[in-house]
Amino acid sequence: MSDCCSGGIGSEKAYLTFRRQDGSPWIPMFVRDVDPAKCVGCGRCAAVCLGGCYEMVEVEGEKKARVANPGNCMGDCHCHKVCPVDGGAMTCRPMEVG
Ligand code: SF4
Ligand code: SF4
Repeated sequence: MSDCCSGGIGSEKAYLTFRRQDGSPWIPMFVRDVDPAKCVGCGRCAAVCLGGCYEMVEVEGEKKARVANPGNCMGDCHCHKVCPVDGGAMTCRPMEVG
């Protein structure tokens, strides 16, 4: 499992930020792509993604996840949390504002 919200956030920039029910800040992380060299093809990301952002494809005879519909991403990080690859095989980024 990975902590999807630990990277990619620089303090010098402002990002789209919401608040959880307890008032703590939450910065959505939107998926960009999947590194096929890291992806083990388990399909967990595609299974949990409510936005249908992923599709499973065959690359040189191996199953891999691909980001097919990045515009559907809600930034909830569910895919990153279930990815068995250390740090996640996908790249996710916060949305800059201002
Ligand atoms: S962050 Fe959520 S909506 Fe976006 S690709 Fe991952 S599971 Fe799908
Ligand atoms: S969860 Fe991770 S390893 Fe599994 S298919 Fe998706 S990107 Fe690849």
